[in-house]
Amino acid sequence: MQLRIEFQKYPLAHEVRTDKALYDFVLELKNTYLHNAEQLSKVLYDNKLHIINNALGTHTKFSRKQGKKLKSKREIHISALFKEMPLEFLRMIVVHEVAHIRVRDHDKAFYHLCQHMEPAYAQLEFDVRVYLTYLDSGRKVLWPTAHALTTLQT
Ligand SMILES: [Zn+2]
Repeated sequence: MQLRIEFQKYPLAHEVRTDKALYDFVLELKNTYLHNAEQLSKVLYDNKLHIINNALGTHTKFSRKQGKKLKSKREIHISALFKEMPLEFLRMIVVHEVAHIRVRDHDKAFYHLCQHMEPAYAQLEFDVRVYLTYLDSGRKVLWPTAHALTTLQT
């Protein structure tokens, strides 16, 4: 079918399988492009994000008073849907959430920063939307993990 042909430009699923691997992946991107931004306290794959928040990723900042200082913590959650996707798609959503560390709104400056971190950002965002529509219509995951394959076979 046509969609399969379009997605052949992304032949492989990525290997960023665990929250730890995701944290490292996000951190590397953040340190390359937003070197001076504060650290992230938590990065994880979230199973419920897509269903409950209808979001692909979230970036949250919490502030808490600790003595006289205001301590802030940042968390990035990535929808677990991205576990079974090509690296390019994971990179797109991570670039999006990392860009929110600096720019809060989806304005011109925000997309400019996304584009700076990933020149193919706009195309990738479009391809991810197309793929999610495809999944929503009840189709099978195009990049199942090795584990999912084993489960299917037994
Ligand atoms: Zn956003």
